[in-house]
Amino acid sequence: MSVALAPPDVAPIPVLDPTPDTERYWDELNEAFQRVMRSGRFILGPEVEAFERETAAYLGARHAVGLNSGTDALLIALRALGVGPGDEVVTTPFSFFATAEAVSLLGARPVFADVDPATFNLDPAAAAVAVTPRTKVVLPVHLYGAPADLDALSALCDRHGLALIEDCAQSFGARHALGTTGTVGRAGAFSFFPSKTLGAYGDAGLLTTDDDALADEARRLRAHGGHRKYHNEVLGYNSRLDALQAALLRVKLPDVDAANRARQAAAARYTRLLEGVPGVVPPADQPGHVYHQYTVRIGGGRRDAVAEGMLARGVATAVYYPVPLHRLPPYAGEGFACPVAERLAGEVLSLPLWPAMDDATAERVVRTLHEVAAGVPSGGA
Ligand SMILES: *Cc1c(COP(=O)(O)O)cnc(C)c1O
Repeated sequence: MSVALAPPDVAPIPVLDPTPDTERYWDELNEAFQRVMRSGRFILGPEVEAFERETAAYLGARHAVGLNSGTDALLIALRALGVGPGDEVVTTPFSFFATAEAVSLLGARPVFADVDPATFNLDPAAAAVAVTPRTKVVLPVHLYGAPADLDALSALCDRHGLALIEDCAQSFGARHALGTTGTVGRAGAFSFFPSKTLGAYGDAGLLTTDDDALADEARRLRAHGGHRKYHNEVLGYNSRLDALQAALLRVKLPDVDAANRARQAAAARYTRLLEGVPGVVPPADQPGHVYHQYTVRIGGGRRDAVAEGMLARGVATAVYYPVPLHRLPPYAGEGFACPVAERLAGEVLSLPLWPAMDDATAERVVRTLHEVAAGVPSGGA
């Protein structure tokens, strides 16, 4: 394959550009940074408490517990519900590794049920088939920011007496008819990894719940299993949220709805522009979708060649995720079959998207995609 370069006068388009946000909030971020540096309180403390109050109010949850990552939010939610060896957790194979990893780290077993080909999210019918007497939790992911089918999954959990835990790492601010994602199940696990719809300047996470006992247990587990320092009661974790991340996130929180609306507008623009592009399937228009990712499908085994061709012409894209979880080494030996997830893993391509992305950038992405996909010999590919 020949290597084509982007025209030298045009900057490459990244998958994600966080700099407009940082510039926009520069003064407030600096003020928050200085406030924390001068406070002498760097872990938990008043900034984290304020962030917990503000996120709980925004999301409509009774409790929000600040943690050091989305992975730990999953781990601590599962652990607080008593998930351990001998238990099964029904989940999606089409997600980031952490979703299943948290289950396995507790000695429990993730049971992968296939996804819906239109929404990419856990298929409630497949989840129902995967339930056994050992099942304790159903763990859907609101993939790419699109709420999973919480009506059907809540009903499934009610029928079998299971706990619903929502992996909301990609869906901060996404709303389902039953409520904001993260407030419908027993617990929600959020990530503020920098690329997410509410992004920190490092690792950060949050657990939400309406359950007083679960919140209390999460607070104990995040601080080495003790409510009081040096009076550790059980084995826990060091998973406390940094005051600095909380303070920086508080700057961006009031505008998260506006940012998500900008993502939705950018997605609608992509879908409009893609109408004339053959062989590229835009994502289904799902209510409440906040477009952490705008992900198209390109079939026929052409996806990787299209991505390479676009990159050669200065447009980065990303594949979330190239290998479904049940095919990764920790799980590959168990013989799970999830044909929809397997097909999607070979077809999905996420296009560049950030709230402040302009028309010209989106048009260039789609023009490049169109030309590359059609095999137009414009400088290679
Ligand atoms: C990002 C992500 C996580 C993990 O969050 P971290 O904050 O990076 O630990 C978990 N699940 C999904 C679906 C994610 O996208």
